[in-house]
Amino acid sequence: MEMAESETSVNARNERHVWTPEGISPLDNFRVPLNDLAMFRGYGIFDYFRTYGRKPFRLPDHLERFYRSAKLMGLEIPAAKEALTKAVDDLLETSQLKEIGFRMLLTGGYTTDSMTSEHPNLFMISEPLPAFNTTGFAEGVALQLSDYTRELPEVKTINYLHSIRLLPERKKENLYEVLYHQQGEIREGSRSNFFMVINGVLYTAGDGVLKGITRKVIIELASSLGLKVVEDRITLEELAQADEAFLTGTNTKVMPVVKVGDHVIGGGTPGPVTRKLMAAFDEYSGG
Ligand code: PMP
Repeated sequence: MEMAESETSVNARNERHVWTPEGISPLDNFRVPLNDLAMFRGYGIFDYFRTYGRKPFRLPDHLERFYRSAKLMGLEIPAAKEALTKAVDDLLETSQLKEIGFRMLLTGGYTTDSMTSEHPNLFMISEPLPAFNTTGFAEGVALQLSDYTRELPEVKTINYLHSIRLLPERKKENLYEVLYHQQGEIREGSRSNFFMVINGVLYTAGDGVLKGITRKVIIELASSLGLKVVEDRITLEELAQADEAFLTGTNTKVMPVVKVGDHVIGGGTPGPVTRKLMAAFDEYSGG
């Protein structure tokens, strides 16, 4: 017998809720008009965070970044930070999930002339988390390379066109993520930040990237472990000298990278500095 959907996918879908300033409803019952600038023009921002032990991880940092993204996009969030913090609490209470991913979304809003943003729409979705890539944590992952810099790199826009377009190749080649660079100057992953380790010093791009919250935590943890961190221009040429490399991100945590394009890093196995930071992150987050 053929089944359209597995029971787990139906359950997972039922475990999604959406909060708006008007209240909370199951995502399945939730309807919005189509004439939103996000739908017509891709105009919108979001932020994404998760729980560890049912506690939102670094929520103040995510709220800060969400408000900053809105400001840089010329959008106003129609709620105070306190209201969003309360929304997180209410969604936590509503959800049956053990751990939750939260997606705060601000769209350009409904438009009459298909260009002007008048009243941005604010949503917060609670959803199941993807499984961690445990094989990747143990063995390291390989990355695809692409010459690209995100438009408005400091803003967490909803535009992931470039990454989604390259996804079939990643799936085919079993590549975990794409690493963006601009003519050899390394930027970030499509959903993560990139670090390399040379002679025990950590290097990560200082500009042209989204300032990840996990990136921030890793910089704090590295400093507390006595490791030097340089946030500056980094290049693919320098990557050729790297002893180790890793990605950071909300659902990526600290992911060892053992191959970028055709270049193998650290003999193809995760290195000691990366392992130390993976352990430090797990201890800090409780995950
Ligand atoms: N860069 C981009 C473009 C991203 O989408 C993300 C994921 N939010 C990151 C970096 C990593 O940020 P974070 O550590 O806050 O998840």
